[in-house]
Amino acid sequence: MGNHTKKLSMEIRSLLLNALSNKDWYHFNNTQLVKCWEELDCSNTECPSYKSPNLRCWQVSGTFCEGEPQGEFAKKFGDCQQCKVYKKATKGDPILQIGEDFNNLMFHLKTKEDELRFSVQNTEEKNRELAALNKKIKGLLKKLDSTNVQLKELSNKDGLTGLYNYRFFRRVLREQYSLSKRYRFPLSCIMIDIDYFKAVNDTYGHQAGDSMLCELAEILLKNVRDTDKVVRYGGEEFAILLPHTDQNDSYIKAERIRNLVSDHVFKFRKKNLGITVSLGIATYPTNKNIRLPERLVSYADKALYQAKERGRNQTIIYAGKESMKGKAKPEASDTAPMERRMNPRVQTFIKISGALNSKHLPFCHAVDISCSGVSLLSCKPVDTDEFVSIEMLLPYIRKKTDERRRLEIEGKVIRCQYINGIACNSDKPKGNYLLGIQFVNMSQKHSMYLQKHFVSMFRQGCVF
Ligand code: GH3
Ligand code: MG
Ligand code: MG
Repeated sequence: MGNHTKKLSMEIRSLLLNALSNKDWYHFNNTQLVKCWEELDCSNTECPSYKSPNLRCWQVSGTFCEGEPQGEFAKKFGDCQQCKVYKKATKGDPILQIGEDFNNLMFHLKTKEDELRFSVQNTEEKNRELAALNKKIKGLLKKLDSTNVQLKELSNKDGLTGLYNYRFFRRVLREQYSLSKRYRFPLSCIMIDIDYFKAVNDTYGHQAGDSMLCELAEILLKNVRDTDKVVRYGGEEFAILLPHTDQNDSYIKAERIRNLVSDHVFKFRKKNLGITVSLGIATYPTNKNIRLPERLVSYADKALYQAKERGRNQTIIYAGKESMKGKAKPEASDTAPMERRMNPRVQTFIKISGALNSKHLPFCHAVDISCSGVSLLSCKPVDTDEFVSIEMLLPYIRKKTDERRRLEIEGKVIRCQYINGIACNSDKPKGNYLLGIQFVNMSQKHSMYLQKHFVSMFRQGCVF
């Protein structure tokens, strides 16, 4: 074997072994390598081979031989083999030729390997990016899910008290009614309405009213089972749906709530306020003719209406059209004579002043009024059969002019009922008196004014 052949064999073997063991590989050592820019008399400074020593210009991409860009190795290699630079580098010597061919093959393989590695790296990177994106999307979806749950919860809740709202109530009422029907367990509904709540708002302001509504909601929530549903039915009305609860147990629960409320001191801006509630109960299937879930509520509502009629601050159980059972009325109601006015009444909040046997009557406000009498909230008790003279301003006789009519009427106190209700002001003891006053000797003129007032209230749908 000649020297050349020996050299070729040694160099190529070591190159091969290096390449196979993944080590760096180097070029077959060719002493005949030619500087292309000298050989081609080129001075293109943009060309990457320009003035680079020991470069094989055919392996350098982006060269500019004779002003033309030549691109990548694989693209230009065919042409480069015809070039005098390449030919001079191999000198037509088969050993140098084979050595350079080997170099070129290895270069080609290395380029392919780099491309492959790059694309793998790229894919790995893309995969990592995708995984991160997936994680982000999963997180967002989870957040979206919980936001949806929150939104759903919010749409079922009342903004002020946080209790469930009427919308939720309707759904749960239907569900519980079908379950009760299917599995034959009793289902009760307690309707609750705050007594004289308008007076609270008018006396202490809407904010005081709001804060009382919230405190009442807490009392209700604290005193029901987890399975009972407490809802704000509307305004100052609440409903409790009690699955698996019969009439008797509902009554016990309702009375417990009523007592808790009337004993509770509601705090608002350092004032101690008090309210009472009236409650109505209906139970499926105890109350007959409940064939629709809504009927359960309307019966409880009817019982509540009766509780109001009978003097408020009490619980009434629905007992058919004719009679309602009002167990355990509060003491004050038991003794107080029932006021029976035959004329329609309007709820009102007319300010009234007056005199009782020439003494100043410590009146607050009218609660409702009819052509034959008026109910008043008073801070002090007044004996029945006392005569009073009262003065009142009827609101909005003519809406446009905002004109008010002053009436002076004689009346007789026919009822004085203690209602454990509204404090007249913070420094006086809690509790108010509901006075029923019957008008006496009313002049025709006054009677006409009152009737006019009624007609206008009737048009507004306020008569009951
Ligand atoms: P009754 O004993 O007959 O129920 O008398 P009432 O004054 O409670 O009943 P009425 O229906 O005449 O008045 C209800 C009042 O409830 C009128 C309204 O101003 C008040 N109300 C309703 N919703 C709210 C509320 O969200 N906040 C406040 N502060 N008051 C409310
Ligand atoms: Mg009310
Ligand atoms: Mg009401």
